[in-house]
Amino acid sequence: MALRDYTFTDPLGSPAAPGTATLAAQRARRTSAVLYVSAALVLGLILVLPDPDHSDHLPLGIVALVSLALGLAYAVWRRPPGALLVGSSAFGVLIVAASVAAARPLAGTAFFALWPMIGAACFLQRREVLATFGLLAGAYAVVFPLWVDDTARTLMAVSTLSAVAGMTCLVFVLKHRVVRLVAGLERAAATDPLTGMLNRGAFADAVSRHHRERTGPYAVLVLDLDEFKSINDRFGHDAGDLALRRFGAIAAAQIRPGDVLARVGGEEFALLLPGTDAHAAGEVAERIRAAVEAGTTDLEGRVTVSVGVAHDADGMRATGEVLRDADRALYRAKAAGRNHVVATA
Ligand code: GH3
Ligand code: MG
Ligand code: MG
Repeated sequence: MALRDYTFTDPLGSPAAPGTATLAAQRARRTSAVLYVSAALVLGLILVLPDPDHSDHLPLGIVALVSLALGLAYAVWRRPPGALLVGSSAFGVLIVAASVAAARPLAGTAFFALWPMIGAACFLQRREVLATFGLLAGAYAVVFPLWVDDTARTLMAVSTLSAVAGMTCLVFVLKHRVVRLVAGLERAAATDPLTGMLNRGAFADAVSRHHRERTGPYAVLVLDLDEFKSINDRFGHDAGDLALRRFGAIAAAQIRPGDVLARVGGEEFALLLPGTDAHAAGEVAERIRAAVEAGTTDLEGRVTVSVGVAHDADGMRATGEVLRDADRALYRAKAAGRNHVVATA
């Protein structure tokens, strides 16, 4: 299984961040490394603590070394096969089962299963969490009879497995709530509530992300509705709000799926056109300008828009400079009498 074929969930990550799946997988890998190395340290500590019976030290030492080796492998192997990553909790369960089998007398070792199960609950989907728990139950069914007598065995299995199941469920449910909550908050923080478009901050993020991740030409349009104050004055603020939403719908109908349209101010909008040359950007601007003019009537308040167009031929210019160019072009479009498109030379 390739890494990209499995969707890890990441309770600490940002669901809206670009490359989220990879980030979650990388966090799952780092968490595995920390858990295995910690398990090795805890086992090492158990081995150096005063203990009247040293007969289990050799097998426990081997388990500690295996755990340490796995932890170091997860730490340095940045792109392990997906199966190794998804199976991390399952290996953890087997290591815990091996510790239970080796430890003499059996003490709290069985509760070490909390570690891999909570790891599974954090990063894996429901089916894999259930499968890992099934593996744990099966492994304990095999190793408990080695040390626990018949009467205590069922009690031991019920108490450890129910505690582990309870914690796993709790972490799994909390994870889903956190992921949903954070996704909702991130959406709200990036969205303009009136038009449902991206807001200024999200647009700036989109431009710098585009700049960071891709080279090649792109264009930025800054669009400002003309004399919008008079729409509010003549028809009321609600009609003004409606006009803003309608402008959004008209502009959105003129762009491609990869283009980014945002409301960056009261009646000011911006449009990022990736992979677009100066000529095509001018055409998009003119299309939007004409559609806005045609989309409203004098009765409800005719809305027109002025557009400033700026362009980066190879994606090498500073984004702030390109945005400032677009603003300057917009200023010239206003000065030219509004309802105009002006592109930077
Ligand atoms: P110009 O052609 O020079 O751009 O003139 P303008 O009237 O559009 O520009 P100005 O900056 O003077 O006024 C912008 C107006 O947009 C004023 C403000 O009341 C209105 N506006 C800003 N945000 C909203 C909003 O969310 N809803 C409504 N209804 N009006 C808004
Ligand atoms: Mg305006
Ligand atoms: Mg304005």
